[in-house]
Amino acid sequence: MTLSQEPPSTQLSPIARIGSKTPSSKAPVIEMASSRFLPLGRTVQEIRIPGTECLVKQGVSLATLTSYRVGGPAELYLAPRTPEDLQAGLDWADERGLPITLLGAGSNLLVSDRGLPGLVVCTRHLRRTRFDEANGQVMAYAGEPIARLAWQAAERGWTGLEWAVGIPGTVGGAVVMNAGAHAACTADILVDTHVLAVDGSIEIFTPQTLNFGYRTSALQGIAHTASAQTVKLITQATFQLTPGADPKQVMADTTAHMNQRRDTQPYHLPSCGSVFRNPTPYKAGWLIEQSGLKGHQIGGAQIAQRHANFILNCGGASANDVFQLIRLIQSEVERNWSLLLEPEVKMLGDFQAA
Ligand SMILES: Cc1cc2nc3c(=O)[nH]c(=O)nc-3n(C[C@H](O)[C@H](O)[C@H](O)COP(=O)(O)OP(=O)(O)OC[C@H]3O[C@@H](n4cnc5c(N)ncnc54)[C@H](O)[C@@H]3O)c2cc1C
Repeated sequence: MTLSQEPPSTQLSPIARIGSKTPSSKAPVIEMASSRFLPLGRTVQEIRIPGTECLVKQGVSLATLTSYRVGGPAELYLAPRTPEDLQAGLDWADERGLPITLLGAGSNLLVSDRGLPGLVVCTRHLRRTRFDEANGQVMAYAGEPIARLAWQAAERGWTGLEWAVGIPGTVGGAVVMNAGAHAACTADILVDTHVLAVDGSIEIFTPQTLNFGYRTSALQGIAHTASAQTVKLITQATFQLTPGADPKQVMADTTAHMNQRRDTQPYHLPSCGSVFRNPTPYKAGWLIEQSGLKGHQIGGAQIAQRHANFILNCGGASANDVFQLIRLIQSEVERNWSLLLEPEVKMLGDFQAA
């Protein structure tokens, strides 16, 4: 496997505030709106943030930006390519009092069919990595896919990230969710993470201050939808790995993890991975299966035959179909086991129970 290598860099600076906020940043702004034709004849309005190359788009479909492939549009959408554009976007939203929703790869999100108000900020273009041979640490920007990082580490013969190869999210999303698999998780290897506030200040969180638990961190809840003043956006994270192993062996172990997941989990259709947290000492999938719900379908959404803790979009599902299945599972498992399953998936926007 060939992976693009990051150019060697010892100069990589952290994503940080580009100049302090000045009174002039509060001055009235001239917004340049233009429209572009989309293939289906729909137009999308673009607003250029003054003084930048940064375009805010209106009405962008979030179905194309989430692994479920369901959900309505973002009222406003920004996917900055540079730290400067990220900061300009946050300032722009702050000046307008817009709510902000943070999006990584959208692999743990169920977005309402009604879409999301305010500005959705997606980190997927904020990518960069630096492997530090001196101390075995790898620094990655928030939008770097965690699986790509795992393959890069394996190619170098660095161990510690083999478990992450099947997780289709970003570095930022992995930290917020404390993503994990194969009895390992983000908390095991995180050194620290940089969290940006709208005023441009960076707070450095460690595993202790992130208060990691099973698929949780202190950044959940405050992270995904907030006013610009309270938003906390992970810009980068540093992980401690162990260099010096045989690259062939680490590649083989990483591949084995990937194969094991493909054999046991339904990767062939859109999903968010596991929908519910496992309630100790049970497995959510087992409880769902024992409740006789495997294969149950609402609209285009189905409880997977191969792994009952997955809900699949079998084609044409709406977010509401998935939501109704989530509610059905919760009520059936509660009826049978007196346990309320807690969703791991983040549900964003308005949902209505049937
Ligand atoms: C097929 C499949 C398999 C999966 N397998 C696993 C698995 O084995 N283990 C596992 O743990 N998960 C798994 N997942 C779930 C998902 O991939 C993880 O939770 C992943 O860490 C989410 O990352 P993301 O970038 O997609 O975040 P998103 O889904 O985009 O966002 C998740 C949360 O993080 C917040 N967020 C994202 N980026 C930032 C940022 N930069 N700063 C602050 N907040 C941010 C969002 O607001 C949201 O609250 C799977 C998903 C799929 C589709």
